[in-house]
Amino acid sequence: MKTPHPQPLPVPPPARRPYHPHDVAAVASLATSLADLDVRTGEAELTRAGTDYHWYSPVLTERLHGRRPDLVVRPRSLQEVVRVAAACARHRVPLTPRGGGTGNYGQCVPLFGGVSLDMTGMNRVLRLEDGWASVEAGILMHELNRVAREGRLRGDGRGRQQLRMWPSTERIATLGGFIAGGHSGIGSIRHGILADPGNVLRLRIVTLEETPRVLDLQGADIQKAHHAYGSNGIIVEVDVALTPWVEWQHTIALFDNYSQVLQCGLAVGAAAVQPQRPIDVFQLSAVERRITPYYAGLRQHLKDADALFAQVCPTTLPAFEACVQAHGGRVVVQGTESQLLAQGLPSATECAYNHTTLEALKTDRGVTYLQVAYPAPLNPALVAQQMQRLGDEVFMHHEFSQAGGELVAFALPLVQYFDEPQLRALITGFEADGCWVFDPHTWVLEDGGMKQVDLQQLDFKKLADPLGLMNPGKVRAWDEQVLGIPGGQL
Ligand code: FAD
Repeated sequence: MKTPHPQPLPVPPPARRPYHPHDVAAVASLATSLADLDVRTGEAELTRAGTDYHWYSPVLTERLHGRRPDLVVRPRSLQEVVRVAAACARHRVPLTPRGGGTGNYGQCVPLFGGVSLDMTGMNRVLRLEDGWASVEAGILMHELNRVAREGRLRGDGRGRQQLRMWPSTERIATLGGFIAGGHSGIGSIRHGILADPGNVLRLRIVTLEETPRVLDLQGADIQKAHHAYGSNGIIVEVDVALTPWVEWQHTIALFDNYSQVLQCGLAVGAAAVQPQRPIDVFQLSAVERRITPYYAGLRQHLKDADALFAQVCPTTLPAFEACVQAHGGRVVVQGTESQLLAQGLPSATECAYNHTTLEALKTDRGVTYLQVAYPAPLNPALVAQQMQRLGDEVFMHHEFSQAGGELVAFALPLVQYFDEPQLRALITGFEADGCWVFDPHTWVLEDGGMKQVDLQQLDFKKLADPLGLMNPGKVRAWDEQVLGIPGGQL
């Protein structure tokens, strides 16, 4: 029996913020000053700009309901971004950057109205070099991959390249949004997480001030704005690392039990993180048999089995298959992305990360999810114990990745949702097992993925957004340490 959400709505905080939410006069003056830009105020557009994929969480769906901007501005150049930033500072109107709107934490939902800055109009490839590209931040990662693969800017079609990683939302998410709101993805088993050195090379940032500055962050300074939810500067340009293109073979291997899948994943992963990469994989995702039936397009192939989805370099496919066989499995689907799509099958990309949750939610709105990192190396016996303990409440899905040069694994388990206390109890249980839970049922930066105040990011916010107008309400440290109000309040 599902019970309604029992939590009372939060009490509004004291009005210490430097703006009035939905200030009609300020917004009207702002709109007038930007009248020659692409400014939208239509109902449908405002509602869309108040939406992202936070609907995965019943908690966020309820809490963020009705939150939306007062206007949407879609800049087409650095100069236009600077004008919007200056106008927001002058009129004390909040600004929330938006890319593809695919974040799951309500990251780009404006909590207090103001401007939703739609960055998708800034989508040009500025330079394409061996090993890196310079792009505008609103480019879709799929489009950047296409350009890099074709080597189009040089016109010779040689030196085909690709991004080192992308979220499973590659087709609809922007690179700037991935850097500001994401963590890792397809490719991370080979190249590490976004925060690992060498993946992101430079961020160009516009500050939110009456006279905005344009700053370049490089090296370790990139962490000042990475995964800051667009709260401390507008990312306008990115230099991002590329790697030589590989025609990845998308494979599905089936096993008789989930422990075999995890054991095989550990063996493949251990080979994949070696410098010589005896098994070279770009993705390695384990999904148990209670989830696989949700993949509508794969039912005839998956049949009551536990599955390993992988993208494998063709030259190491024999070694991969041998490893699968050694762990009691068999490869049942194999082909390039375009071959699979031509057969009406999904790519392995769209069977992984939060696409797994999406597949389930398409037919079952009674589920939600958690994000659980495990101590390295992953212990399949611990996972087996958890599955035993949690029974039909939790279905398992693990992603293998590399972080800081080490093979790691984290789960995005599906949860049969009852209420928020149930989620809190599950989180406590995983933490008691020695796992770390990145709570996807909060809009507060520190309460989700970060777990602690990042003083470097806070200091950078004081510099890049001194008025506290950027994506307000998302950064607990700003509210508590600078405004002196409780964090996490709406
Ligand atoms: P948005 O959702 O539009 O924005 C994300 C955050 O970045 C917001 O706080 C926004 O204010 C800020 N932002 C956007 N653009 C800028 C900018 N130019 N300057 C400053 N701030 C900016 N995430 C992963 O990390 N890995 C995954 O594999 C993954 N898989 C997913 C699968 C599904 C089905 C879904 C729904 C989500 C998934 N996500 C994943 C979450 C999300 O898709 C990614 O993080 C994605 O890269 C976000 O990009 P976006 O353009 O949609 O950003």
